Amino acid sequence: MASMRIGHGFDVHAFDESGDSVMLGGVQIPHDRRLIAHSDGDVLLHALSDALLGALADGDIGQHFPDTDPAWADADSRELLRQVAIRVTEAGYALANADITVLAETPKIGPHALRIRQTIATDLRAELGQISVKATTTEGLGFVGRAEGIAVHAVVLLEPLS
Ligand code: MG
Repeated sequence: MASMRIGHGFDVHAFDESGDSVMLGGVQIPHDRRLIAHSDGDVLLHALSDALLGALADGDIGQHFPDTDPAWADADSRELLRQVAIRVTEAGYALANADITVLAETPKIGPHALRIRQTIATDLRAELGQISVKATTTEGLGFVGRAEGIAVHAVVLLEPLS
């Protein structure tokens, strides 16, 4: 019998000098600086997608969706996540739960956490209670503390499809 699989994903994106919003977990959050990226810069969905691929021991999103490939150059990260979800199903697994921690000094994530969870649950065909999104600052320490960028950790547990 197949066993459960755990996966971890981590991603960082730097803030640009200016902008009007950041895309985080498929939700556009107003902010005075955007995140630098080839794609929509959704650092949360990148970390989550990498966690899912990690649980499958199936590489990472840079390998499956290279930004050097025009097909993925300006990709919607929700579409990447949905593609990864298909790989999870095809491998014979289903999401048990995901726990995501956003490290950011700004913008404030808390007011948007529910919408982010709903968006992820929709794309992974999961229940809201399977998706946790929480946020912390780093007390002014390091690149996150200096508000130079946002970092995200994601942990997922997959269970075999019955
Ligand atoms: Mg990324």
